[in-house]
Amino acid sequence: MMLAVSITVVGCAPNAKERELEGFITAHVVKIKPMERQTNLASWDAAISGKSEDYDRLSRLTLKIRQVYSDPQEFAFLKDMKESGQIKRAELARQLDVLYDAYLENQIEPQLLKRIVDLGTAIEKNFSTFRGTIEGKKVTDNEIKEILKIETDSARRKQAWLASKQVGAEVANDLILLVKLRNQAAQKLGFDNYHTLSLTTAEQDVKELDRIFDELYELTNEPFAKLKADLDRILAAEYGVAVTELMPWHYHDPFFQETPMVYELDLDAYYEDKDVKELAERFYAGIGLPVESILASSDLYEREGKNPHAFCTDIDRRGDVRILCNLKNNEAWMETILHELGHAVYDKYHDPEVPYLLREPAHIFTTEAIAMFFGRLSRNPAWMQQMLELSDEQRMEIEKVSGKYAQLKQIIFARWDMVMYDFEKQLYANPEQDLNSLWWDLVEKYQLVKRPPGREEPDWAAKIHFTIAPCYYHNYMLGELLASQLHHYIVHNILKLQSDENVSYIGQKKVGDFLTKRVFEAGAVYHWNEMIERATGQPLTPKYFVAQFVK
Ligand SMILES: [Zn+2]
Repeated sequence: MMLAVSITVVGCAPNAKERELEGFITAHVVKIKPMERQTNLASWDAAISGKSEDYDRLSRLTLKIRQVYSDPQEFAFLKDMKESGQIKRAELARQLDVLYDAYLENQIEPQLLKRIVDLGTAIEKNFSTFRGTIEGKKVTDNEIKEILKIETDSARRKQAWLASKQVGAEVANDLILLVKLRNQAAQKLGFDNYHTLSLTTAEQDVKELDRIFDELYELTNEPFAKLKADLDRILAAEYGVAVTELMPWHYHDPFFQETPMVYELDLDAYYEDKDVKELAERFYAGIGLPVESILASSDLYEREGKNPHAFCTDIDRRGDVRILCNLKNNEAWMETILHELGHAVYDKYHDPEVPYLLREPAHIFTTEAIAMFFGRLSRNPAWMQQMLELSDEQRMEIEKVSGKYAQLKQIIFARWDMVMYDFEKQLYANPEQDLNSLWWDLVEKYQLVKRPPGREEPDWAAKIHFTIAPCYYHNYMLGELLASQLHHYIVHNILKLQSDENVSYIGQKKVGDFLTKRVFEAGAVYHWNEMIERATGQPLTPKYFVAQFVK
């Protein structure tokens, strides 16, 4: 869905409905602002302490916020406002959209919601405690992954792959029930199914996503087939089988979502005697997006009890932005700190004049895109050379593999994400159909991986995202697409270069200026696709991702 023009009525006095809505929003923000800040602080405290009292405080506060948004009278008021057609002023209409969606997704009736949450939690628990078996012996996920990485005997690989799928059979019936309950909730709110409801409240339109994914499919078909054929030759030789005998277990992870390690790329040596925090800080300062104050309130190093992953949080939409990392001086953490600081500068450099409800990223995937845009630099040879003071020879060493690796990584992920997007759409449209064979039809279509003869198991159910993060997976892909679209626009229109060869952004204040003015300051003032069009001249398209990675 695209807004062709945004209407700003200057100088017109607000009408009665508009005044009423303004009053509602003011009262709402007075109520919700401190609650959100308290919740964000509780979440932060819990992540850095690991203490159960902090987690308890977090769930109490989260529940309170949910109670605000589940109020049926307030929802009815917003619905009436929307249907009145009287809310003309653009900024007010946007706030209404954002509020309406937030209330809508919380209108599921309490008893049904409880069943959904309880069943989801039970399945998730099953995932974390279930262990597959090889010849009757239990194996952990790490052991399975290790076998799929290094084992050369096809029979052993097959056993490990089968073990990775056993959890699917264990949870499939519950998961189908969960899908039906989610659908029931969505249908009570007037939607075809839960997939449509989720996309609608996330301001995404199925037709628009279909268009993007279809185009990506078309544009990657041939190049993927070619890359995959090269990869298959290498793998077949490694395992001593014919290419035609390659089976799902010959790829290096259970879903073929990651790049098999056939093109060696180890960049850690370049980072081990550097300080990734200092590099990131210096880089962001150089592009005019200082992160000093963010780093000062962040929690960057490993500690007992602390969350072992990484994230960014905007505590108050007024500049208190923090990241959590567990830094080590290696390439993966270089990428991660660049990534998290990408989220952080987006939050930090919102325009403080924008209304509170719109002072957040345009969409979850647009902030992901900014994070990816910067995270990609940790493997960029030109960036590495300048930041790490490498010789030309060293840069050429990195170039030899990094381009090929990035290409393979991106295209393999894109084809995998198509499976996820398409399957999930069809799963919610009709959970009664033969899902087991639908899954393999899609894997064959998109990933060009053959279904094992006679396989009739719920292999799809082994993917935990269907349980814990429904109707979300496509956002990873949209983030990659936007990161490339911004990259292309900046290279050609801001830096005014002919190609992106040797582009590192280092020291380019124009890059920070552009992102601040066109992306960060806009917050959620525009629908995400309008923001993208205003920033880059066109709505989201897969063209530039393909230009960057699929050559
Ligand atoms: Zn992220």
